Amino acid sequence: MAPDRSCRRCGRWTAEPHRLRCPGCADERMDLDGVVATCHYTDPLRHWIRSFKYHRQDNLAPMLGRLLVESPSLAAQHGRDALAAAHLMMPVPLHPRRIRSRGFNQSYLLARQATAALRSWEGSIPMLETGLLKRHKNTRPQVEMTRKERYTNVADAFSINAFSIDAFSVDSISVDARSVTEPAEIPPRCDESEAGHPAIRGRNVILVDDVMTTGATLNACARVLKAAGAATVTALVLARL
Ligand SMILES: [Zn+2]
Repeated sequence: MAPDRSCRRCGRWTAEPHRLRCPGCADERMDLDGVVATCHYTDPLRHWIRSFKYHRQDNLAPMLGRLLVESPSLAAQHGRDALAAAHLMMPVPLHPRRIRSRGFNQSYLLARQATAALRSWEGSIPMLETGLLKRHKNTRPQVEMTRKERYTNVADAFSINAFSIDAFSVDSISVDARSVTEPAEIPPRCDESEAGHPAIRGRNVILVDDVMTTGATLNACARVLKAAGAATVTALVLARL
């Protein structure tokens, strides 16, 4: 197998394989424990992602979802390791108003398709979890923003939905994934008086998004999940810009 040529910490491509940290992220403070970017952001992938996201071509979701977990990219082994250790797979949530205007949450469709594609895996696979992490602030589109503006824009946009039905029925939420293979070993439920959230505490979480630009959104999600007790949070994206 080809060596991993993406930085495990930030997902950028590196000349030197198996980098745990690269010059590009050496001084960055990140709440994410790692980033798996499975493809290069070049055509045709770039075109597919834009069509999917901005032109409502949700028929591209199955192919793109499979690319997240079955890409023969140089980050493949890194990604497989992260997925094998993960308990939960969560899409980056959109604000309900944004879902209404776009028609769907692209990250949710990708995560759903990725989870379905993992059915063919041997061993444990993470469960799709869509109710715990919520976006309570409808942030402004970030396309024209600087890195600093992006971090400020999403800093307090996410929170944990303490009343999520999913949160307390982890054993039943991911019928599509768990009914096929045994899940990763999940830590026993803890006393709810402990810090964090009982459905998140001690779990390894995979956060799914289409692309990672500055990482502001994924880091904001990771911070909230870490505060809720997540053991690790790893971003899984199609490409790192
Ligand atoms: Zn890096």
